[in-house]
Amino acid sequence: MKDMVRIPFSEHGINERQICKKARTILTALTKAGYEAYLVGGAVRDLLLGKQPKDFDIATSAHPEQIKKVLPSTRIIGRRFRLAHVHFGREFLEVATFRAPHDESDKGLVSNDGRIIHDNVYGTVAEDAVRRDFTINALFYELKTGDVLDFIEGMQDIKQRQLRLIGDPERRYREDPVRMLRGIRFMAKLDFSLEPETKAPIKELSHLLSTISPARLFDETLKLFHSGQAVLTLDLLRKYCLFTCLFPLTEQSLEEDESGLFFNLVVAALNNTDKRIRAGKTINPAFLFAVMLWYQVKKGEKMYQEMGNPDLQSMHMAASEVLGHQVKSTAIPRRFSNVTREIWTMQGRFQFKACRRALGFLDNKRFRAAYDFMCLRANSGEPLEEDCEWWTLFQDISSDDQLAMCNSASSPKRKRSGRRRRRK
Ligand code: ATP
Ligand code: MG
Repeated sequence: MKDMVRIPFSEHGINERQICKKARTILTALTKAGYEAYLVGGAVRDLLLGKQPKDFDIATSAHPEQIKKVLPSTRIIGRRFRLAHVHFGREFLEVATFRAPHDESDKGLVSNDGRIIHDNVYGTVAEDAVRRDFTINALFYELKTGDVLDFIEGMQDIKQRQLRLIGDPERRYREDPVRMLRGIRFMAKLDFSLEPETKAPIKELSHLLSTISPARLFDETLKLFHSGQAVLTLDLLRKYCLFTCLFPLTEQSLEEDESGLFFNLVVAALNNTDKRIRAGKTINPAFLFAVMLWYQVKKGEKMYQEMGNPDLQSMHMAASEVLGHQVKSTAIPRRFSNVTREIWTMQGRFQFKACRRALGFLDNKRFRAAYDFMCLRANSGEPLEEDCEWWTLFQDISSDDQLAMCNSASSPKRKRSGRRRRRK
């Protein structure tokens, strides 16, 4: 390990007022009680880059019980990694005790394929630095002195705007394949490049993501696509062969889709998501899955229709099948997958513009999501422009105008089925 370097305020420029007050309270309390405590990880990185940190993580020499003694509002969580959550009302900050990297010779800690399965071994701050993923995520800010502690030349990589995995990249990816996804996420979010040795093994090791639990991959997927750089993220994930582990059906669809319509839809949706995030608007994960799986759902729906099933039932059967397939890669909590399904099944309702159905549809609590989805389809080239225009206007006018509009709307021609009314 290289020697630790102390970087003073004059060089790093992080002002203590940029650190949230709660984090400062914790750092001061732990330091006063005689422990080491630092701000660490993404917060230090983002402050050095002039960005607003998402969260303020703290690392300390105090063990969880000791943290609780100093800060009684602490709740200790986790069995595998015991972490302290220091509460301030409903909000909390995460405080982690320094961890040592596991010993490679200790077979008890690593699975056969090299994954860490247990690493709750406390260590020193220097050890805690080297067990982290990228050098830029291993900088420690000390409130007491205002210095940044750099154990592995993280500052140099910040300046060169590159992501360098700490230690031997292949071994670090094998220990935890999610580090490959984190690399892509930071590349897109920070506009950094991958240092060549960090980049080299990714394609070959990408398949290791299949060993990660669908629940963890769901969390990572949301972080990837809700980072404000979703279009670039998609591009990078595909380039490094990682996308197919998260969305195998989507990758297949993108390859099958000769018209390019589906690709347009995905890109339009991700662009939209990026814009919403930058504008501080909320986003529902259900929408991401509705978009990503649309091609396969439509394909399945068509197949079931051709087998003679009614339209709505065909859509439901296709939805169950596609969602059932997707959750093998990324879990999707029911509260989201139910909405995804509703967005899909509602697509058939935009054609009905007669007053009773149209006004009822507007009142549906999923109308907005289904409408956004339909207009995205229209904007990406599906022949739905008229519907998108009609419903855009319809929801925005007075009830009198609405009545006039739906009274004059023509209903779609009924499909000719076997049960035609006999003329007298
Ligand atoms: P974000 O801005 O997304 O919060 P972050 O770097 O803070 O980015 P977190 O997931 O909050 O990411 O993790 C906090 C820190 O914990 C990281 O900066 C890194 O030092 C360490 N860390 C997180 N995940 C891993 C991992 N899989 N392997 C090694 N270290 C990790
Ligand atoms: Mg963080």
